[in-house]
Amino acid sequence: MNVEEKLAVLAAAAKYDVSCASSGSRRRNAGGGLGAATPAGCCHSWSDDGRCISLLKLLLTNRCVYDCAYCANRCSNNVPRAAFTVEEVVDLTVQFYRRNYIEGLFLSSGVERSPNYTMERMLEVVRRLRREEAFRGYIHVKAIPGADPELIRRAGFYADRISVNIELPSEVSLRRLAPDKARASILGPMQQIAHNITVNRDERKTFKRAPLFAPAGQSTQLIVSASPENDDRILLLAERLYQTYHLKRVYYSAYVPVNDDARLPWAPAPDMLREHRLYQADWLVRYYGFAAADVLDATEPNLDRELDPKCAWALRHLEQFPVEVNRADYETLLRVPGVGMRSAKRIVASRGQAALRIEDLDKLGVVMKRARYFITCGGRVPAELCLTPAAIRAQLLLGPAGRTSRPTLAEQPELFGEL
Ligand code: SF4
Repeated sequence: MNVEEKLAVLAAAAKYDVSCASSGSRRRNAGGGLGAATPAGCCHSWSDDGRCISLLKLLLTNRCVYDCAYCANRCSNNVPRAAFTVEEVVDLTVQFYRRNYIEGLFLSSGVERSPNYTMERMLEVVRRLRREEAFRGYIHVKAIPGADPELIRRAGFYADRISVNIELPSEVSLRRLAPDKARASILGPMQQIAHNITVNRDERKTFKRAPLFAPAGQSTQLIVSASPENDDRILLLAERLYQTYHLKRVYYSAYVPVNDDARLPWAPAPDMLREHRLYQADWLVRYYGFAAADVLDATEPNLDRELDPKCAWALRHLEQFPVEVNRADYETLLRVPGVGMRSAKRIVASRGQAALRIEDLDKLGVVMKRARYFITCGGRVPAELCLTPAAIRAQLLLGPAGRTSRPTLAEQPELFGEL
């Protein structure tokens, strides 16, 4: 198999790892056009300072001795197999970088022979890129669960981000669907990476020239809907991962039905709406001051599929509304549906100069079609405040022309917009 054929197999095999986001476009060049968006190969990710960067996204190999039920690359599947040599990955990265196709590398792998064998080869790729090619681009490398901690530590000194996929939300599901992976072999490296990052930060306060360890931190991927856990369990786990291991991101990946396996649920297609709702709820936990237990609890274990999580929460807590926008503090404003971080900051800054009027809020970025049921402004109410939760819900679900809008992914609020 030549390098191009390997690239086709191993870039396609990497597309299921969403812990480095991908465009997912399938537009091909039918001939005569300029360029072609292939379903795998290059993907986009975001650096720590918010820049969008394009990455070469590859598996070192899709040969895997493990047999995870949900994975296209599991050893029991009859799929084309390939493995890059270390030199090939280094060369591809350098060549793509020189041609300005990419700004970095995302490297993952199946477990070939053993975790240590695989991790050693991944370490060698990143070592050569940094040491021999003086590569200064972004590198995100996966730590292989079960590999020697020293190999993972050394890889962290060459990578910008190093991450371990937690895969499933509970130990029971992990045992059932990924019997070769133990929870300890996933959480152990995660803990070790968090510890190494902390130690490295302290070292660099004393020794400015101490080498950086994974300066872009660590992330993980969680597959949803392959196992029966509710959203509250998933969100609580994510919250714990953020708090305990200081993760930069938990990526939620809707289970893609690629295998026939009695252990897996029947699914006609990936549940993208659930994935989207989880990202919105995750955003509330990370940036809006919500605890996972605020967003969901045992009485409400799953996210509302029709409304975004902040609207759903507000309807369950109407006793906390209306909020007077001329007086409420920043944290309280953040809890109002339709008010995001940017608009809450603008409200706080603007009202120091003059009291705000309802007409001003739209210009400050407040999404009034959501906020109107939850605020007063200078004592004025933009909507009838005695509405019941059911009535507000019905209003929130009304489309622009007064038609009831059923939730499709396209109609949901922007992930990074004003929730
Ligand atoms: S370890 Fe599991 S998820 Fe990873 S490539 Fe192998 S079978 Fe797939």
